[in-house]
Amino acid sequence: MRALLPAVGTVGAGRGVLNTAASLEIRRFACGPLETNTYVLTDPVRKTCVLVDPAEPGGTVERFLDREKLTVERILLTHGHFDHIAGVADFRSRRSAPVWIHPADAEMLFRPEANLSLWIGLDIRTEPADGFLEDGDVIPFGSGDGIRVIHTPGHTAGGVCYDAGAFVLAGDTLFRGSIGRSDFPGSSEALLLQSIRSGLMVLQDGVRVYPGHGEPTDIGFERKHNPFLSVRPG
Ligand SMILES: [Zn+2]
Ligand SMILES: [Zn+2]
Repeated sequence: MRALLPAVGTVGAGRGVLNTAASLEIRRFACGPLETNTYVLTDPVRKTCVLVDPAEPGGTVERFLDREKLTVERILLTHGHFDHIAGVADFRSRRSAPVWIHPADAEMLFRPEANLSLWIGLDIRTEPADGFLEDGDVIPFGSGDGIRVIHTPGHTAGGVCYDAGAFVLAGDTLFRGSIGRSDFPGSSEALLLQSIRSGLMVLQDGVRVYPGHGEPTDIGFERKHNPFLSVRPG
């Protein structure tokens, strides 16, 4: 079953156009033992936000939401690995926010062996998703063109990036100077590289990249300096 998102305008024609910079604010919080980046995208006018990859329950993110008096409209997931979903159960119940993920990663939410938490002796799980996202879907948020979903399989089958125009949330697909791991069950390096080329490297140089771990970068820097992208696929 696939939930439909009401689209606001079309982002397709203006991929990477710096059109929502003024309307959305972004905050990064490195959370949990793997320093997974949780992002809060805020619409400062309406005092609403979208929570991306809540990586631990409560903590600094919860205090930030309280302090800024933000209503969480949605929880968006870049993929289903445990370090990106460890805070989902807590935030979705405390904030009554619906959880959205790509269908190919859906079972990672409730199967610890699929989200890899079982591998390290943890049992991280939550209820099934409230909605599913596909490539090209546009999530209405803020006063700009919304957030466009880019399906970028490779690290996981259901990995996605979120394109907000001036910036993109890259999950574990693209990092500063590196790319996501592809040695997990269901991963594929060839697919990951293809996803980065066709989904991310088509964006403009000035688009800021906020990865799932580590410091932000931008598309232009990665195009020039990322060693994984300098060799053309065979
Ligand atoms: Zn991951
Ligand atoms: Zn990760």
